Amino acid sequence: MTETAVIPFNRAFVTGAEQAYLAQAMTCGALEGDGPFTRRANALVAELVGASAALLTTSCTHALEMSALLLDLAPGDEVIMPSFTFVSTATAFALRGAVPVFADCRPDTLNLDERRVEAAITARTRAIVVMHYAGVACEMDVIAAIADRYGLVVVEDNAHGLCARYHGRPLGSFGAMATQSFHATKNVQCGEGGALVLNTPALVERAEIVREKGTNRSQFFRGMVDKYRWVELGSSYLPSDLLAAFLVAQLEAIDDIQVRRHRIWAAYDERLAGWAARRGVRRPVVPAGRDHPAHLYYLLLPGLADRQAFLRHLGERGVQAAFHYQPLHAAPGGLRYGRVAPGGCPVTEDVADRLVRLPLFASMTEEELHRIVEAVVSY
Ligand SMILES: *Cc1c(COP(=O)(O)O)cnc(C)c1O
Repeated sequence: MTETAVIPFNRAFVTGAEQAYLAQAMTCGALEGDGPFTRRANALVAELVGASAALLTTSCTHALEMSALLLDLAPGDEVIMPSFTFVSTATAFALRGAVPVFADCRPDTLNLDERRVEAAITARTRAIVVMHYAGVACEMDVIAAIADRYGLVVVEDNAHGLCARYHGRPLGSFGAMATQSFHATKNVQCGEGGALVLNTPALVERAEIVREKGTNRSQFFRGMVDKYRWVELGSSYLPSDLLAAFLVAQLEAIDDIQVRRHRIWAAYDERLAGWAARRGVRRPVVPAGRDHPAHLYYLLLPGLADRQAFLRHLGERGVQAAFHYQPLHAAPGGLRYGRVAPGGCPVTEDVADRLVRLPLFASMTEEELHRIVEAVVSY
C-alpha cells in the first residue's frame, strides 16, 4: 500500500474464522435457512441482547418489515419515528399502509426527541419506533412511560446498538421487538443480514410463521404439527445457513471487534478534541448511563458550506468520509407516505447539513488512524 492509498469509509472486517465455518456448512450440505449455524447465531444474538428469542433475517430492513406485520397494522394507522434515521425504518411500516409520523431529534444525541412524542400521538397511533443513533441509547425510561400511558408498542431499530447499554441494560431489550443489522457496514457483519429480536415470548411463534412465508413450517420441523400450512401473512425472511456460518464467526469474535473499534473511537475523540474546540466543531455526546458500541464517529461542522469544504479537504488527502441522513420527512417518499409531527423537524434539517462520519472499522491500522487525524486537524 502506498502512502497515498485511499482510506475507505468502511472496510468490512473478517475475523479469519469464517472460512472454516463456511466449509463446515458446505460439507454438512444443509444450505437452506434454520440450519445448525442459524440456530447458533439466533442463540448468540438473543444472549447479547438479553432477549427471549432472536431470529436471523436477510436484513434489518426485513426484520423491520416483520415487526410491521406482527403489529397487524391497518392502512391509516400511525407510527411515530424519527426523521433522522435510515429509510428502512419508515418503508417497513409504509409497506403495510401505515403512516410514518416523523418527529424531530434531540440536538445532543441526535436521537428521537422524547419531548416531541406526546404531541405526535393521535387516535390512530399504534407504535413508537426508536433508533439509537450511533448506538447511544434514546431516553428509554421516558419513551416507555409514554408508550405505557397510551397503550403503544415500542419497536427498537437497533441497527447501530448491538453491545450498547442504557443504565446497564442492553439496547434491543426495551421494545416488544428490536431489529439488528449485519450489513457489511455494521460492527458485526455477514455482508447482508439481520435479526428480529423478540422480548415478548407471546410473539415468538407468530414471528416464526411470518418469517417462513406465513406457514407453520417451524412447528412442523419441531414435530408439533403433522403438516405445515399457510396460516398468516408472511414472506421469506430467513437467510441461508452459509450466511449464518459466516455470522457465527463474527459473533464469536465480538469482544475483539469491540475492543478494536473502541480504540479507534477513543483515539479520534481524544486527538480531535483541541481542533474541534478551536473550529467550533461538535464531537459526539454520550450522556451518563450510556455505554455506546463505537459504531460510528461523527463530527458536526458549523454549517453546510463548511461541511462540504471539510469533506473535499479529507478527500484530497485520501480519506473517505461520509454524511447522512437525508431527513425523511422532506424526502419525496416521506412527503408521499408520511407526515411530519407538530413542531416540524428543524434540528434534523440542521444536523443533516452539518454531519460528517469518519472511517471506523476494526482492521484500521495505527498508520491509517494517524493519517486520518492529520487530515482532520489540518483543516
Ligand atoms: C443499516 C441500517 C438499517 C438497514 O439495515 P439492513 O440490514 O441493510 O437492512 C436500518 N436502520 C438503520 C438505523 C441502519 O443503520
